[in-house]
Amino acid sequence: MVINFHSKKYNKGNKMLDLQTITTVINGIKGAMDIATTLKNSNVTLEQAENQAKLAEIISALSDAKIHISQLNDSISEQNNIIKELENKLKQKEEITFNGKVYESKNNKNDIFCPACYDSNQKLVRLTKFDNDILNCKVCLSNYH
Ligand SMILES: [Zn+2]
Repeated sequence: MVINFHSKKYNKGNKMLDLQTITTVINGIKGAMDIATTLKNSNVTLEQAENQAKLAEIISALSDAKIHISQLNDSISEQNNIIKELENKLKQKEEITFNGKVYESKNNKNDIFCPACYDSNQKLVRLTKFDNDILNCKVCLSNYH
């Protein structure tokens, strides 16, 4: 029996959820279970050295499985954060409207935001009024008349 978790295709830097990795983990755990079952069903005449080797194989396989599952967990966690971030941006987008000059809150027309900042990186930066009717962005320093 060969248990191989060391897939050369597995890229530690790749944080995308990888179905091939999941399959590798599942196969590895299945392999470890097969070895454990063999040991469980073996009779007392089985050589001690053979048992030791099989146990070492089990430990190694489970250890690799643990690492891969941990990496998958990190991947899923990172993807959940991305989903949360996108949900927040979508919610934010639904709460504002462009009035031809600046973005304003649908709930409060006096809440106005810089179009340059929002259009370039989806950041809602509140505009402040100075002098007469000049609206100023403290982040990108744009002025709106
Ligand atoms: Zn700005």
